[in-house]
Formats: sequence, structure tokens, C-alpha cells
Amino acid sequence: MNAPVHPHALSTAELQALDSAHFLHPFTDHKGLAAKGARVITHADDIYVWDSEGKKILDAMSGLWCVNAGYGRKELADVAHAQMMKLPFYNSFFQTTNEPAVRLAARLAELAPAVDGRRFQHVFFSSSGSESNDTNVRMARRYWDLMGQPQRKVIISRHNAYHGSTMAGASLGGMSAMHAQGDLPIPNITHIQQPYYYELAEPGESQDAFGLRAARWLEDKILEIGPEKVAAFIAEPVQGAGGVIIPPATYWPEIQRIVDKYGILLISDEVICAFGRLGHWFAYEKFGYKPDLVTFAKAVTSGYIPLGGVLVGDRVAQVLIDKGGEFNHGYTYSGHPVACAVALANLDIMERENLPGRVRDDVGPYLAEVFEQFKSHPLVGDAETCGFVAGLVLVQDKATRKAFPEDWAVGMMCRAHCFGNGLVMRAVGDRMIIAPPLTMTRAQIDEMAVLIKKALDLTLQELQSQGKF
Ligand code: PMP
Repeated sequence: MNAPVHPHALSTAELQALDSAHFLHPFTDHKGLAAKGARVITHADDIYVWDSEGKKILDAMSGLWCVNAGYGRKELADVAHAQMMKLPFYNSFFQTTNEPAVRLAARLAELAPAVDGRRFQHVFFSSSGSESNDTNVRMARRYWDLMGQPQRKVIISRHNAYHGSTMAGASLGGMSAMHAQGDLPIPNITHIQQPYYYELAEPGESQDAFGLRAARWLEDKILEIGPEKVAAFIAEPVQGAGGVIIPPATYWPEIQRIVDKYGILLISDEVICAFGRLGHWFAYEKFGYKPDLVTFAKAVTSGYIPLGGVLVGDRVAQVLIDKGGEFNHGYTYSGHPVACAVALANLDIMERENLPGRVRDDVGPYLAEVFEQFKSHPLVGDAETCGFVAGLVLVQDKATRKAFPEDWAVGMMCRAHCFGNGLVMRAVGDRMIIAPPLTMTRAQIDEMAVLIKKALDLTLQELQSQGKF
């Protein structure tokens, strides 16, 4: 297609045609998308986005788990503008630094709570969650090299985890569809089963008993490999992209006991869970465990500009700094001044409006009450929340927890009804999930609940009309 690109003059159809002619989207079947055309999102405010046909949509996914402070924050745009005029870019490779990056590193070190005296005083910056997890792999292995245990290379992760889409990120992740493309995982990365109570508990097994059993899969794996070969265990506090899988309360303390016993590093991937999402600045604080490395990205800037990084705990930082010499790793945009300035302003907003606190004490508990009511819907097998993430599982038989046949794509059916009624809710298989902006009010939670209920009812009707329910 040779049409000139005049952004203001293009119709929806023209944009869609150019889109399918030139733009390869992430995680997309392009033939399928070209046949129906991408939805063009034009602008956003508060918790809503609008498409090019003027349709208003309540964004219960915060973009992609990132717009924690909500859309339309002029002060973030103003800060980006001012920083671009002052210093739009400079690298931090060659013994140079810049004020926003320094201030942000110090600010994050201050925000990250110490657990049992274990502190985070250092930050390594990247531009995304994937790059941050690649950093973790290299840093964990470098740490063990410097500790004189270079044979400690294996990183243990979990099935159905999501840790990014680079070679290391996708390898750490536990998505078989991703492993199937590109010869993954890379060597020395292995997986254990996830702590998904609803699907994996034995009949009659309590949440607590299941949590302990699931954590002990880690110990089994460490013993199978040989503890002297294991570098680290990486996990999301609550699995996000895997479908909002919330572990039982016994899980994390037992994981901590096991990593301590064998001396292996613990990596908490908080790309989704940090910055108020679970009602705390960092999720390890909520669950009370003691990671050595913490991955962050997304909401550090509320998604307004790409930024990610790793909080590096004293255990690793001291070895890297004292014994390490040069760590041959880094990115052009590590410590990008504009991204760091926006992050600082975003953290100001979160602090001023007490967004983590309101999730913890006010709107989070209210969301939990609202979700509890969905349990009585005929399609809903279970409904759970943790802070401001939530999931509903759609099942064929509530009593036996029997799932729908995969090829009925019931989750996608429900998602289409959500979109149709002006709601973004994501489907992971038949788990329907949300992660709304942390600014959402109680009235907006009610508004969202009406839309979810409507989508569930329409899905039920569609299944009934097809004789499937
Ligand atoms: N880790 C987790 C837990 C994530 O949820 C994601 C993205 N959804 C990533 C890593 C990868 O982040 P990015 O897409 O910014 O590379």
C-alpha cells in the first residue's frame, strides 16, 4: 500500500489497512487480525479509553497492567517535556550519570522495605520487564562465579509463569507455546508446577496444605538437580499473565524456608505486582518473604514511558561491587533521564494520593466484596482477588470443577461480550482477569461490575443457544 501517511486524515478503515500492511503486532495471528482489522485506540482519560469510532471503553486492564495512576496525568507529560528540553538523553556507560537516574535509584532504595535487615540499596535500570529478567539471569550467574561456585547455573521457574519475551525472559517463563517457538528454554533453566489451587489441589485438600505441597515441588527439584548447581528461583508473587493465580498463604513462607536452606537466590518478579497493585509498594512486603533481586517495570512510570529495572539486594550488590570488577552488561537506555524523571513524578502522584494504601485498605477490600458476588453466577467456578488484581474462572460444572472443552473458547466468547459492552477484561483460557487503574473509585467498581455481570449473562445465553449449557 502506497498511500501517504497523514495521521489526522486517516479513517478507521485506512488505519486498519495500513496497520495490517506494515505493523507486526506482539503475540498476534496476523492473518486473523488482517481479516477483521485492529481496534484503533485514539485517546484516554482516567480509567477509560476511546476507539476511532468514538466508543468509550472502561479499561479494567490498565493498558497492560501498567497505568496504575490512570490516564490523562498532565504532570507526567510536563515533566517529560521539561526533561527532554534539558537533557533528552545521555548514556551512563562511560563513568557518567544524570540527576533523574540518581534520584530515582535513591528513591526506589528508600521505598523498598527491608525485611529482617535485608536491604535494597542498588538499582540496575533497563527499559522493560524482559530486559530486567535477562539482567537477573546474568547477574545471578555472575554472583555465583564471583562466589567461587561457577557450577551454580540453574534457574528454577514455574509452569505458566510469565517473565518476558526475550530469549531469557521467554525461557524463564513457563508458557509451552512460547517454548515451542525459537528453541527454548535456553540451557540451565527448568520449571516446576505452579501453585494453582483450583486446578491442582487434591479433592478435599485445604488451601494451606496445598500451598505447602506446591512449595515443596521446589525442594524436590533442587534435590533432583543437586543444590550445588542451583543459582536461583524466580517467581511472580501472584502470577499475572498466567491468569491471576494467587498462591495460598502457606506458599511463600515455605518457599523462603527452602531457598534459605539451600542458599539459593530468590528473585521476585514484580513487573505486575509492585507499585501498589497488591496494596503495597512491593509485593514481597505483603507476603513477607526476602528476595535478593526484584524485577520491576510497567507501573514505575504508570506505563507513560518505557522503564524497567532490578532492585539489587545487599547480598548480591556487595559481591558485585566489592569483588566484581566490570559487569559486562547494560543497555543504551539504562538510566534514561526522561524515563527516570517521569518515574519520579509518577511516584510523587502515587505517594500524594496514597494509591497503595487505598488499594490495601479501601478499594481493594471493596473489589473483593464485589467479586465474591460473582461466585453465585452459573458459569463462575471461582472468583478471587488480591489487592487490585482479580480473576474469575468459567467452568462447565461448578460442583466437579469441570472445565469447558478448550476448542469452545468460552473465555474468548466472554471477552468479546465485554468489548461489545465497553469493557476491557482479559481472557487467559477460561480465566477472566482484571487489573484496573489504582485510582478507580467505588462507584467505578460498581460500574465495572455491572459490565462484567452483563458479559457473563450474555456468554451464558450464547452457550445455551448453542445447546452447550
Ligand atoms: N515479568 C512479568 C511478571 C510480566 O508480567 C511481564 C509483562 N507482562 C514481563 C516480565 C515482561 O515485561 P515486558 O513486556 O516489559 O518486557
